[in-house]
Amino acid sequence: MSKVYWIVFSKDQLWFSDQGKLPEESEILETLSSQENVRTIEDADGQYFKGVQLAAESLPKDWKLVHLRQAFEVLSANEYKVVCKLKELLHWDEEHQFCGKCAHKLDKLTDISKQCPNCGREYWPSPSPAMIVLVEKASEDGVKGHDEVLMIRTHSFPGSFHSLVAGYVESSETLEDTVEREVLEETGISIKNIRYVASQSWPFPFVQMIGFRAEYAGGSLRFQEEEIEKGGWFRRNNLPELPGRISLARKLIDQWLREGE
Ligand SMILES: [Zn+2]
Repeated sequence: MSKVYWIVFSKDQLWFSDQGKLPEESEILETLSSQENVRTIEDADGQYFKGVQLAAESLPKDWKLVHLRQAFEVLSANEYKVVCKLKELLHWDEEHQFCGKCAHKLDKLTDISKQCPNCGREYWPSPSPAMIVLVEKASEDGVKGHDEVLMIRTHSFPGSFHSLVAGYVESSETLEDTVEREVLEETGISIKNIRYVASQSWPFPFVQMIGFRAEYAGGSLRFQEEEIEKGGWFRRNNLPELPGRISLARKLIDQWLREGE
């Protein structure tokens, strides 16, 4: 029998055992494993993971609470996937308790779905699509290394890093429309040559992040005050603090950095 690992959240934070790892079932208190809101998933290798949202008081005192963004720096790619999935499922569980059509309390249908016992309607979790874009500006004097990237810091970012412009898709928009609108709304500039690069599941709280690149087309930076704390154009040798390695933003930035080598 393979081990069962526990993913224990307190809001956006994750508990590591006193060993600094995801705790195994044998380390879990019985009161915890009998919780009602536990979700179990199996990864591609047949390894089981159980996830639960808990208040800090119910855990061993020597365990360590780590913000998910920091935890992502030490988790394996597989553990990242599992943690995201459980975080998103637990969030979805909490937000979808009643039928949107007839308001009855929903029953569990499968490990990842629910059904209304009154009208039969099924509910499956679906992430919100959000765009993130690396906007680059060609070197104005033609000198190699003088090209720049647009980076911003929103009021809601934790820590002190800068990242890329991002935003949610609105109804009737294409993904490219969203990218163009968000950049214009948040920074006042227009862009061209928008193209898809990569995507990533992002559990804050339940987002499918879709990454693009685009080129500066015109206008001057004028940041939307309610959303953006600060930002600007940066050269490779003068970058602000970057977002964590696991983030799609960082992957887009790293790709751009490598092109300048
Ligand atoms: Zn119903």
